[in-house]
Amino acid sequence: MTRPDLIERLAAAQAERARQDLLRRLRKVEAVDGTRIQIDGKTLVNFASNDYLGLAQHPALQAALIRAAKQWGVGATAAHLLGGHREEHEALEDKLASWTRRKCALLFSTGTMANLGAIQALLGDNDVCVQDKLNHACLIDGARLSGAALKRYVHADVAGAKRQLESNADSAALLATDGVFSMDGDVAPLADLATLCKTQQATLMVDDAHGLGVLGAEGAGSLIEAGLQQGDAPVLMATLGKALGVGGAFVAGSKALTDGLVQFARTHIYTTAMPPALAAAASAAVDIARFEDWRRAKLHRLVAHFRHGASERGIELLDSRTPIQPVLIGASRAALIGAQRLEADGYFVPAIRPPTVAQGKARLRVTFSALHEEADVEKLLNALARAIAQARRAMKKER
Ligand SMILES: *Cc1c(COP(=O)(O)O)cnc(C)c1O
Repeated sequence: MTRPDLIERLAAAQAERARQDLLRRLRKVEAVDGTRIQIDGKTLVNFASNDYLGLAQHPALQAALIRAAKQWGVGATAAHLLGGHREEHEALEDKLASWTRRKCALLFSTGTMANLGAIQALLGDNDVCVQDKLNHACLIDGARLSGAALKRYVHADVAGAKRQLESNADSAALLATDGVFSMDGDVAPLADLATLCKTQQATLMVDDAHGLGVLGAEGAGSLIEAGLQQGDAPVLMATLGKALGVGGAFVAGSKALTDGLVQFARTHIYTTAMPPALAAAASAAVDIARFEDWRRAKLHRLVAHFRHGASERGIELLDSRTPIQPVLIGASRAALIGAQRLEADGYFVPAIRPPTVAQGKARLRVTFSALHEEADVEKLLNALARAIAQARRAMKKER
């Protein structure tokens, strides 16, 4: 027998990644204070966090968490259907539904689990799932898990989506898209996709992990910003680990949708409920995210400042108006050199490389928080210009 050894094979794949400058490395964060993080004994300004509104260390969230942990204990001790579903969960679900202007919301332990569970519950073998090519990995994985045919269209290409739906006209269809694309920061053409889904009798699902708290009136998300209601996009998924600074996720829509997910979403049924203390912290986060508009206003001001300063310095940015502001570099090695230079200068801006992004599209992904100051942005811009120049020089020398 010549059966390959799985661990050896994994090690060989890792060695290959290292050869291509694609190796991932876990970095231990030793301390966090707002936008400052300490790594390897050095304090860095963090431009990599998804804590867009600066809520992760907010005292109101910490107090809610501790109060609920004292009342309920730390863990939920069981799945939602088996005694793990507590008052804190229901209160949070009601709050999330009201915020996103939907009938009902159902909690999941993470965004990945919400997408896997919702898509697997909605679709089966004979169906089709149409997706944007730049969708988050877990939307793609959800389609694979469901057994439906996965058809992808060129990024933001509504005509491409239409062709995919038309060529599968007899199948039940779900069109799933990120609201804000996680590695590019641009917003999906949601109004056009909603119209397309109406004419094609397809169901629109939007993953608003990066839109909730950031876009739209009261930060209610990219759908609200686009003027779309529950009837236009029946399935909304959003996470609690980004702008809300906590962790967990929910799917919101009609009662028929959330009732159905309770029955059929395997990642909701066969898993321990989110700790009730986290649900309490998330409830506190929603109140702040929804009503403290100054956080969004400041965030958008910082983004505008950054884009203006980048253009002054000849730094090319992608077409994004969200707090996700990537600087396209190209080669993975160049992106790594740029990230190292930024770190040496006191900034944490990781290199994003394939397979997270397409081959030749490695980038420095900058994200902003309402806790950054304009002075941070100004200094980052100067450091970025130096880092990009150094990455270019290093690549030229190698050629
Ligand atoms: C982060 C993210 C997820 C996953 O959410 P988690 O709660 O971190 O599992 C899903 N979709 C998108 C677009 C994301 O950015």
